[in-house]
Amino acid sequence: MFGLWVCRESSLISMKTTKVDKVLREKLGAKEFTSMLTMCEQCGVCSGICPLSKLTDFRVRKIILRAGLGDIEAIKSSDLWLCMMCYACLERCRTGLEIPDIISVLRTLAIEDGNVPDSTIKVAQMFLKTGHAFPISGLTKKMRKELGLDEIKVDPEAMEEVGKLAEKTGFKKLVEGK
Ligand code: SF4
Ligand code: SF4
Repeated sequence: MFGLWVCRESSLISMKTTKVDKVLREKLGAKEFTSMLTMCEQCGVCSGICPLSKLTDFRVRKIILRAGLGDIEAIKSSDLWLCMMCYACLERCRTGLEIPDIISVLRTLAIEDGNVPDSTIKVAQMFLKTGHAFPISGLTKKMRKELGLDEIKVDPEAMEEVGKLAEKTGFKKLVEGK
């Protein structure tokens, strides 16, 4: 199956590597994803449905391919952090690959490898500080008011729980470097 992938990939995206990275594959194998990855047929339906494909060069099919090959670029590329976990690809994949879960595992491996984009760290910092992953600007507040929506409020108790979880899981240390 991997041979087939390499053949398809070289003709479609000129992927330079055919070298299998045993370390990455062992790590994925430890998470029981290796056998799942070999089921990918490289049909491209996931990339076709992914909303990011319309706006960026992000192609989830390539990430799945690289992960299956153990290509270390799968966890080095900042593309890995673009996925919004909308699950559209999961619903369409006819082989039932749990694509968002695979991306989560790859992100964990990327973190262990020290590959987290600054922009992602900033979003996480903002979330820990404000409870939002993006700034609630005056314009957002105005638009919500015009639409008759409630003012956005953050529950202090929920924030306290998030803080505790972030502390216990090491998330806080990761994003704040403390
Ligand atoms: S839809 Fe599923 S089988 Fe097709 S390329 Fe994507 S992950 Fe592979
Ligand atoms: S879960 Fe991620 S990869 Fe899948 S369709 Fe949504 S944004 Fe794309």
